[in-house]
Amino acid sequence: MNTEPQTLAIVVPCYNEREVFPISLEKLSSILKHLIVSKKISESSYILFVDDGSQDNTWSLIVEAGTFNLNIRGLKLAHNKGHQIALIAGITNADADMVVTIDADLQDDPFVIEQMVDKYLIGYDIVYGVRNSRETDNFWKRTMAESFYKLMAKLGVEQIHNHADFRLLSRRARESLLQYQEENVYLRGLVPMLGFRTIEVYYERHERAAGVTKYPFKKSLALAIEGITSLSVKPLRLITILGLFVFLLSVVAIIYTIIEKILGNTIQGWSSIIVIISFFGGIQIMALGVIGEYIGKIYNEVKKRPKFFIDETSNIKEK
Ligand code: UDP
Ligand code: MG
Repeated sequence: MNTEPQTLAIVVPCYNEREVFPISLEKLSSILKHLIVSKKISESSYILFVDDGSQDNTWSLIVEAGTFNLNIRGLKLAHNKGHQIALIAGITNADADMVVTIDADLQDDPFVIEQMVDKYLIGYDIVYGVRNSRETDNFWKRTMAESFYKLMAKLGVEQIHNHADFRLLSRRARESLLQYQEENVYLRGLVPMLGFRTIEVYYERHERAAGVTKYPFKKSLALAIEGITSLSVKPLRLITILGLFVFLLSVVAIIYTIIEKILGNTIQGWSSIIVIISFFGGIQIMALGVIGEYIGKIYNEVKKRPKFFIDETSNIKEK
């Protein structure tokens, strides 16, 4: 059996993280060092910071950190492509035995990485970081997240409760994940589809170490819609059922109207007409919206556009 320690790559997406980067770098480097010294991982293990097209000087900080330490690698995307694509870019370029993804802001406890590695070493392929509570999220974010999990479960998408994108993937899990060629990426839904041996580790989620959230409500909503429409077609089915139900209702209404007409009870008010028209109008527009979402997805998928372009790299050898 091969007893050499295996390589670990810690992938960290960074978008305008100038404030938090130094703290993050220090914490993650010391954890990496500790794991190397304790011989759990090989000396060639590294941290890969993915600069997701930041407008601030995040990239120069990454490069600077790499000049002193070859275990600090960097990848600069040519554009801001969003958290999920930044993760994919990092995972694609992290050719290691195990890959851990973690946010730059240290809200996820980096000390849990050691537990993840321990789980890997006893044979797990996927280790999910699961937060114990959502106390650091405000009431609004917490309620939205809860409703979203419930909705996703109803729509048949398997998701790990209270798990964000803090996880370890073994080489084969990582390679399998990369075989999903889809343009619309929602990792929290995709990873559980891989199967393999999985386990959860728990941690407390902290406040951001510095800087502000890069996930305003608009981006969170976009991620939720992405999650639903990229992994479930049930909304289309629901629309069909809803349409059928409304159609049956309208048949009853039509029969009723005809009978009233024959009986000579002519209907006076236009209010009922307005109610019905707006009701149908609303339903139709909603249905069109949902169908439009899916057509939009198909449109994006068929183009098979590359997901990201790499602008520059730091400490990564050209293949
Ligand atoms: N992020 C990114 N690209 C973006 C937005 C965010 O790479 O367009 C990164 C960000 O730098 C951080 C992680 O994704 O490392 C999660 O973002 P954030 O902490 O702002 O989200 P929150 O924890 O507030 O939901
Ligand atoms: Mg955060």
